[in-house]
Amino acid sequence: MMAEIIGHLRIEAHASRILDACTCIPCMMPFITSHFLPRSKGDRPQVVPEGTKNLAFIGQYCELPDDVVFTVEYSIRSAQTAVYTLLGLERKPPAVYKGQYNPRVLLEAFLALHEIGV
Ligand SMILES: Cc1cc2nc3c(=O)[nH]c(=O)nc-3n(C[C@H](O)[C@H](O)[C@H](O)COP(=O)(O)OP(=O)(O)OC[C@H]3O[C@@H](n4cnc5c(N)ncnc54)[C@H](O)[C@@H]3O)c2cc1C
Repeated sequence: MMAEIIGHLRIEAHASRILDACTCIPCMMPFITSHFLPRSKGDRPQVVPEGTKNLAFIGQYCELPDDVVFTVEYSIRSAQTAVYTLLGLERKPPAVYKGQYNPRVLLEAFLALHEIGV
């Protein structure tokens, strides 16, 4: 695992020194895929459920349209939504980036899926 991180960070030249000095303890995360289970509208609560004035759900298990779970952004947008809504502020969290409508992203995905080098 450390070797992989070292590769990502492109510091292979220092790999043996780092690996000699590091302790790496892998841990199991048996419920981590729960984020990605199929879900329907209503399975997760709205950030600020209709009719509530002092209660909000934030984090990964509330409903945010178009957003992507398992990201820090999801938790942050839910918290921003909660604060702005409950305080009655005229603000919205930053818009969700929709890469699926970007022709460059679509082309790159197509090439990668078909193993066509660029
Ligand atoms: C291995 C891994 C890799 C990831 N990689 C990425 C990535 O590359 N990019 C990305 O965007 N996201 C990544 N994520 C997801 C991201 O880390 C989480 O979505 C995000 O941290 C969730 O933030 P949160 O504040 O909602 O919850 P958390 O960060 O889980 O915070 C919840 C806090 O509440 C505390 N808590 C729980 N119960 C209680 C209690 N009863 N009383 C008091 N405190 C309590 C917990 O100790 C914790 O500190 C990764 C997650 C994992 C596990």
